[in-house]
Amino acid sequence: MKGSILSLLLAFGVLLAAAYFSSRTLGSINLENQNDKSSNESSSSSQNVAGESTEVVDCSGEITPSVTEGPYYIANSPEETDISEPGTKGEQLTLTGYVLDQNCNPLANAWIDFWQADGDGNYDNNGYNLRGHQYTDLEGRYELLTVIPAEYENRTPHIHLKVAKNNQTPLINTQLFIPGLDSNKNDSIYNDDLEIQLEDSESGMIGKFNFVVD
Ligand code: FE
Repeated sequence: MKGSILSLLLAFGVLLAAAYFSSRTLGSINLENQNDKSSNESSSSSQNVAGESTEVVDCSGEITPSVTEGPYYIANSPEETDISEPGTKGEQLTLTGYVLDQNCNPLANAWIDFWQADGDGNYDNNGYNLRGHQYTDLEGRYELLTVIPAEYENRTPHIHLKVAKNNQTPLINTQLFIPGLDSNKNDSIYNDDLEIQLEDSESGMIGKFNFVVD
């Protein structure tokens, strides 16, 4: 009798231990999966967007540097995300990212006005090819369909833009640069904090850049 009670207690103990270890294993697998996910999506510093999107956004919290506007800006550009026209010279580029405040909160309805040279290094100074403005969406995101610009005169390839939280706040006048070009080294306006993160994909070149505004 004593022996059977003892073996019953022993069996119960083994069952309890098995249940405990299997729940721990499940827990750690889940955690590993989560870690895998976040390491795939983030690079350096990162922050969730508004608790609504699962995308992790690079954000230093440092205001995007301003550089000179240059001589080719034309006001009142059309509102459009695809700023190239059929036949525009240059390799296709999709540039995306966020406009954020200094606390890395995404800003909906921020204004961005882009202008640039084409793949031959020419600006359209009579019309609005490769010129256009847009507003960030509810998640603070923008998307520009354009081409990779070429160098002209003494300038390394660059995309000009102005960005502002709204029309009551200071404008940032700046330029974005293509990484890895020798011509960057000889350009006095070039700033490596303004390099696009560029990658080749099946659907063309994909560029990423996040702006931080005051
Ligand atoms: Fe320029």
